[in-house]
Amino acid sequence: MNLKDKLNLLRRSITEAFMDVQYPKGNLAPHDCAECQDLRKTFANKNWKNIDRKIIEKNYDQLPLFSAEAFHYFLPSYLIYSLENFNNNFVLEFTIYALNPSKKDLKGSFEYWKERFQYFSIEQMETIYQFLAIIDENQDYLNRYERISIDGLKSVRDQPN
Ligand SMILES: [Zn+2]
Repeated sequence: MNLKDKLNLLRRSITEAFMDVQYPKGNLAPHDCAECQDLRKTFANKNWKNIDRKIIEKNYDQLPLFSAEAFHYFLPSYLIYSLENFNNNFVLEFTIYALNPSKKDLKGSFEYWKERFQYFSIEQMETIYQFLAIIDENQDYLNRYERISIDGLKSVRDQPN
């Protein structure tokens, strides 16, 4: 399979895996500051399946500000944008950061990472691993940032409470 087909296939898997996720019930970005307030306004009542790409581009680095619930809901928009724009861009780069605990992160803030991914199903996690794998195979983020590590993310999920 060529890269284009792989990217399309993964896009479909992500769309299916996140299809039924409900819009967050709680606060989208609970932190009390102007930036989080803006984020709440921007994403209020948006559907992850049809968010304007300009919004994703403008908020390329905002995933960490979302609540765990909102992160679960809006992440697929960022994943799909990244697969549709599979080159060096800020959305792709910062989406990787949000999925990629470094070894140091796992030592110092394991609970944080566990909390971030508490709502994801096994099927959804599987699409994220595939997302990281396809980047690993085709981009040089690994060498540039030494962060691509599916095992890191897997360990967050597999560790029992
Ligand atoms: Zn804030």
